[in-house]
Amino acid sequence: MSSRTLNLDDTLYDYLLTHSLREHPAQTALRAATAKHARGGMQISPEQGQFMALLIRLTGARNTIEIGVFTGYSALSVALALPDDGHILACDISDEYTSIARPYWEAAGVVHKIDLQLAPALATLDARLAAGAAGQYDFAFIDADKTGYDAYYERCLQLLRPGGLIAIDNVLWGGSVADVAEDDDTAALQDLNRKLHRDERIDLSMLPVGDGLTLARKR
Ligand code: SAM
Ligand code: CA
Repeated sequence: MSSRTLNLDDTLYDYLLTHSLREHPAQTALRAATAKHARGGMQISPEQGQFMALLIRLTGARNTIEIGVFTGYSALSVALALPDDGHILACDISDEYTSIARPYWEAAGVVHKIDLQLAPALATLDARLAAGAAGQYDFAFIDADKTGYDAYYERCLQLLRPGGLIAIDNVLWGGSVADVAEDDDTAALQDLNRKLHRDERIDLSMLPVGDGLTLARKR
């Protein structure tokens, strides 16, 4: 017994999935399709998708933001948990990646909830702010280019209502955040982790889910 978070070996991870994972068939199919993709490792894990879906239901989120869509698994997980009039402002720059997503969103009956914006996320977020959308969102998931995270975090903090939740992915970056940074992505994540730790605008929890997931609740 230990009070520290367990390291999961393959057997225990398999146990976790077989004893908790509940996927829509479209999620299972999208994971199988993405596993064949050269960049398939960018997809969030299924248990993280399920956890984010639970967060959506727990918080009663309706209006959400996703930064970094790829083949659409995280958006699909969130969209399935949103009410029928719920909404995702889904930001990505890649038509190639996101066009894989659409048939699965359609198969799951959630495509009407997902507003895909193909443009640099910062431009999309700044346009929403310029349109007066500050304070109108309940939830945001940040999972795009790591050097952009700090700017996305600041925009999301403005776009969220007080009590809204930001989930930030890859905050442990394969463990490299604990070492001396050897590239810009690692340095950006280290800087953001340091900043969030002392950021009094939020309540904070850094979870060892997937590659590290920080939850930041706007005060
Ligand atoms: N959340 C996705 C999932 O569950 O499968 C994974 C997202 S993947 C790690 C990162 C995505 O960010 C890629 O699809 C990439 O095209 C996108 N991206 C990179 N730079 C971007 C930018 N400046 N604005 C918007 N999206 C960007
Ligand atoms: Ca990620």
